[in-house]
Amino acid sequence: MEIYNTLTKKVEKFIPHKSNEVNMYTCGPTVYNYAHIGNLRTYIFEDVLEKALRLNGYKVNRVMNITDVGHMIDDGDDGEDKMSVASRLTGKTPLEIAVYYTDAFFTDFKKLNIRKPDIVSKATDNINEYIKIIQKLLDKGYAYISNGNVYFDVSKFDNYYELSGKKPEELIVGVRDGVEFDNSKKNPFDFGLWMTNSKFANQILKWDSPWGVGYPGWHIECSGIAIKYLGEYLDIHCGGVDNIFPHHTNEIAQSEAYLGHKWCNYWVHPEHLNDKAGKMSKSNGEFLTLSLLEKKGYNPLAYRLFCLQSHYKNQLVFSYESLDIAQNTYNKLKSKVRTLLENAKDFNDEELDDEYYNKFLDALNDNINTSNALTVLYDVLKDDNLTNEKKLKLIDKFDSVLSLSLLSVENNEIDEDLRYEIELKIKERLEAKKEKDYVKADNIRLELQNKGIILKDTRDGTTYEIK
Ligand code: AMP
Ligand code: ZN
Repeated sequence: MEIYNTLTKKVEKFIPHKSNEVNMYTCGPTVYNYAHIGNLRTYIFEDVLEKALRLNGYKVNRVMNITDVGHMIDDGDDGEDKMSVASRLTGKTPLEIAVYYTDAFFTDFKKLNIRKPDIVSKATDNINEYIKIIQKLLDKGYAYISNGNVYFDVSKFDNYYELSGKKPEELIVGVRDGVEFDNSKKNPFDFGLWMTNSKFANQILKWDSPWGVGYPGWHIECSGIAIKYLGEYLDIHCGGVDNIFPHHTNEIAQSEAYLGHKWCNYWVHPEHLNDKAGKMSKSNGEFLTLSLLEKKGYNPLAYRLFCLQSHYKNQLVFSYESLDIAQNTYNKLKSKVRTLLENAKDFNDEELDDEYYNKFLDALNDNINTSNALTVLYDVLKDDNLTNEKKLKLIDKFDSVLSLSLLSVENNEIDEDLRYEIELKIKERLEAKKEKDYVKADNIRLELQNKGIILKDTRDGTTYEIK
């Protein structure tokens, strides 16, 4: 497999430390709110990468953290803890908030057919790991105590700017914006490993430590959890591009300073999903969650397909128009596979067609080119020289990575043509309403009602139910 490595800024051949095993770490969610569909794009990509590695025959050990303490409003370590803010605003305890949003997060995983990582570990469950690492960093002279807090001294770490590939002057602009500088630090990019002297009095989650009662910084949690569960050598570390600096830069600095050798060879960063206005956000504009898409009548797997249609190293702009197209393509795909299933014998013992299978694998191994992998799927569906059984055998194999539930037949699945007709009618009715032609709008509603299709007008648009 070849993959783009942020560390070397090149597409490189992937060679893990052990020939048949991959240690993979992916940064998990900060559970103070729902994940937005941008976050989910990153997790869909990581899922595809993991499954592509498995298809190549690797055993993948994947670990992910759940950030339930220490992630500040600013991605450096300034501002208030996101969990504390959520707690203050809702009157709920950080634990209640973390449990609720962690559940919601994995519900989204299920709906998107994302495999839950082998090990999922909460930041608050590993405090002793962080203390052990921080103590060693102090002993080795990489960290210092100032004003009650322990900081990592970035000037002591030689390759601090390697991952971002930027000069300090370029980075400083982004970090300073709107954030008060912490005068306890020696250098602007020094970051907090352990804080006992928070600017914010209502920091709720605190633990005892050799440096006093306090809480860990955000960055130390990923190093602590990754090293605890995967050992001293990591093959792949993933996260969205926003994680390159400062989060992953700091993870590398503290891990390698602690271990005394290189930690992870491949750093893989999918690009963001943006909305038309720019950056996707949990606080500005429409907060795009998977549940919102579902409420609007979209199948979560149509969103997965939407993500797979583009390359992960390109930014992707979300719009309902594009999602409509993806939903349509998804319906057609499902309908084609259903027809195959209806017209095929058992295909399990069928031999796999090597040519198509290799094309599919080649597309994935070419820096996870999912859109080319999808093209191979479409080619299989179109190929008149393949028997239905051969096609199904291939599709089944492809779906172990694409995870679009192509072969499963849901009982409540609506016929594709019917769905199309309903959606057309809903649009027509909306147009009529806009033109104040309420008689026409009502007639459309009644017409559908007579067919057992009940329209419901909600704040997020019109949905329907089939009786
Ligand atoms: P957070 O919960 O904020 O820690 O983010 C969880 C994951 O989503 C991280 O890997 C982020 O890099 C990633 N992420 C954040 N915003 C976006 C976005 N707009 N598009 C894709 N991934 C994102
Ligand atoms: Zn992380």
